[in-house]
Amino acid sequence: MERTRAELIHASRLSAMGALTSTIAHELTQPLAAVANFARGLRRLLASHSPALSPVVGYTLDDIDAGVMRAADIVRHMRSLVEKSPIRRQVHSLADIVDDAVAIGLIDAASRGIECRVDIAEEADAVLVDEIQIQQVIVNLLRNAVDAMDGSAHPQIVIRSRLQGDWAEVQVSDKGGGLSKESLANLFKPFDSTKQGGMGVGLSICRTIIEAHGGKIWGENRSPSGACFKFTLPRASIPSYS
Ligand code: ADP
Repeated sequence: MERTRAELIHASRLSAMGALTSTIAHELTQPLAAVANFARGLRRLLASHSPALSPVVGYTLDDIDAGVMRAADIVRHMRSLVEKSPIRRQVHSLADIVDDAVAIGLIDAASRGIECRVDIAEEADAVLVDEIQIQQVIVNLLRNAVDAMDGSAHPQIVIRSRLQGDWAEVQVSDKGGGLSKESLANLFKPFDSTKQGGMGVGLSICRTIIEAHGGKIWGENRSPSGACFKFTLPRASIPSYS
């Protein structure tokens, strides 16, 4: 009872954070747009008033532009991930979904020294999915991989896909400590976490999403070390116009 109570309190705190994330993302959109506008205005002013200065300052303004664009991109992804949206299954590019998920899920990869490799098979690229839900699955798997490699000397994540008949199989593998016997037995059970403060619902949500798409998800250990999660997604059958 005590454990369940603590889990429920944690779950409601997380759901409040989710709602807050959406509000913060919304509130950030305006100041970011303002910064972009001011940078643009400054570029025009410089060009007309002090043209000699403008190339030098121009580089700095380019940096400001790039930084604002990146921040706006992150905010946009965060909003789409936390906001409720109707489930919409459409033809999407798996490579694009993976790119978006990596932008969010590995936002701190550089500062943690994590190397990430992505290798998406072109023939398995078109999938019929709800892109936000599949992004959520990949973000969950990436965050687990990051947690598992905390303190690793050579942290590395590889995201790969391959064609499996009517399915695209996606793999997310890491070089962390791998899955313990207990983890393997309870991998997709909710509220089963080995992490301090972990909710243990990430993988169970992943399974719900993948199974709702008709696919399968499973996890295994890699040799010599690390874990690998694999899931399948329905390929979109693109009509041939030849
Ligand atoms: P949480 O991350 O909150 O613990 P999850 O359902 O995402 O919840 O994961 C359940 C458990 O599975 C984790 O606590 C961890 O023990 C194990 N696990 C998941 N992914 C990995 C991984 N890549 N490497 C090692 N263990 C993992």
